[in-house]
Amino acid sequence: GPRVGVLALQGDFREHAHVLTKLGASVSLVRRPAELDAIEGLVIPGGESTVMDKLSRAYGLAEPLKAAITAGLPVYGTCAGLIMLADSVLDAIAGQQSLGGLDVVVRRNAFGSQNQSFETDLDVPALGDAPVHAVFIRGPVVESVGPSATALATISDGRVVAVEQGNLLGTSFHPEINGEYRFHKYFLAKVRAAATTA
Ligand code: GLN
Repeated sequence: GPRVGVLALQGDFREHAHVLTKLGASVSLVRRPAELDAIEGLVIPGGESTVMDKLSRAYGLAEPLKAAITAGLPVYGTCAGLIMLADSVLDAIAGQQSLGGLDVVVRRNAFGSQNQSFETDLDVPALGDAPVHAVFIRGPVVESVGPSATALATISDGRVVAVEQGNLLGTSFHPEINGEYRFHKYFLAKVRAAATTA
């Protein structure tokens, strides 16, 4: 299957690795720059974006990751991973940086604290008719979608919680933890298509 890395600095990378393996990908955990060379796609998990940002810079991964994203590497970010992919981050901590790539503004912790986590069913036309059951855990919201990006899903109040732009995909919620595989399948289709044209 396609060779997909999961950024394993922090967060729920094991859950993503499990889903991707079930879907037939050859999964590797990425912690060092050289490990980027062997992959055709990357998942950035949920967790804590401030920590992921610091560790990715400390391990010398941030710059190679930015270059890979610019070069067209397919990347799927969930929650903290979406924050890492956003061009602009509101309610960031002092000095927090993102990798960027997605032409969106996200706001961290937009739905409140950990104990205000919630689950809801989303309509995601790109994934078919059946609703997506979405688990939100201190997730970000997409406050604005720039001209290069496309909203894939909104919650009932109209706020955007899933976006894509070319080879990049981001969700405010965590399909990796509740058996919702369609986002990962959608992402693997991008990985296969990019690998074919490369
Ligand atoms: N609140 C976290 C952050 O800002 C994201 C939470 C998550 O990934 N579940 O990075």
